[in-house]
Amino acid sequence: MKDISPSDIENNLPLSCAQGPKQPVTVGNVEIGGDAVVVMAGPCTIESKQQIFSIAEAVKKAGATILRGGVFKPLTFPYGDPLLLSDADSDGENLPRTYILSVDEMLTRAEPRYKYFAEAGKTFDLPIVSEVTFSQAVDMMEPYVDMFQIGYRHMFNMDLLYRLAESKKPILLKRHYGESIRSLLGVVEHFKARGKNNIVICERGVAVPHTHNTVSRAVLDIQAIVALNEYAPTIPVIADPSHSTFKRSYVTAMSRAAISAGADGLLIDVHPTPTQAWVDPLQALDYEDFKQLTTELSGLSKLFGRTL
Ligand code: PEP
Ligand code: MN
Repeated sequence: MKDISPSDIENNLPLSCAQGPKQPVTVGNVEIGGDAVVVMAGPCTIESKQQIFSIAEAVKKAGATILRGGVFKPLTFPYGDPLLLSDADSDGENLPRTYILSVDEMLTRAEPRYKYFAEAGKTFDLPIVSEVTFSQAVDMMEPYVDMFQIGYRHMFNMDLLYRLAESKKPILLKRHYGESIRSLLGVVEHFKARGKNNIVICERGVAVPHTHNTVSRAVLDIQAIVALNEYAPTIPVIADPSHSTFKRSYVTAMSRAAISAGADGLLIDVHPTPTQAWVDPLQALDYEDFKQLTTELSGLSKLFGRTL
């Protein structure tokens, strides 16, 4: 793994490493990288219309300004795609968990969920962000989402990156757990070199020897936030203490650390009954814990001259 050299700054990363004040990125009616610390919150996976409306209401009340929700999940194994599970508003029947959906079937099953996800966002005045896992999904999602998330697995998916570079919608780019700041900024540079500047970086943990076992999945790289603010001060950076720690009881402390280190926002998994979440049941906060978190962070943000 290489450090960023003076030659990189001059020749390889001139746009990403430009010095100057933070250039906020606008998502719907929300600015990321301004004075306000932005909290994006919502379920790992959208499970029903009722669920996303309930979560939207709860996170809005608690102070979140962007609603997150997954529909296409980058699954480790090919079985048990949440898109197989029908809900009150999709007319798909329940198929066995071993059924493999074609791309067309995925798009057909996902679109109704994006429709009511967007409706929930509008109802509670929350722009919405969602992960896109393959380029054919971009066209379908584009009218509904306010921001595209690139998950850590897709940091180098050039097909997806080139397609997203053509979209006007802002991008939330997650850093892969094994990738350097140099490589991450290289991806940002690919976008910027194509004239796409509304990119927000998300730190979501790095692999170290004790991770990938029962204690936690990754270690939130707090120092990366500091480094990014130094090397690439114009680019907003947020942290995801939910998907990095993979552990509910670590989320609050890591959120405090991220804000203290200079993060412009947080991405937090929230679910009404976390232990029953379809995906990632170990990390989501319930409504009460989320409210407690935002109340505390609002006080903390003031120390750094910010609001929440
Ligand atoms: C997510 O945000 O739901 C997700 C799967 O993210 P990551 O790419 O960080 O695992
Ligand atoms: Mn998740």
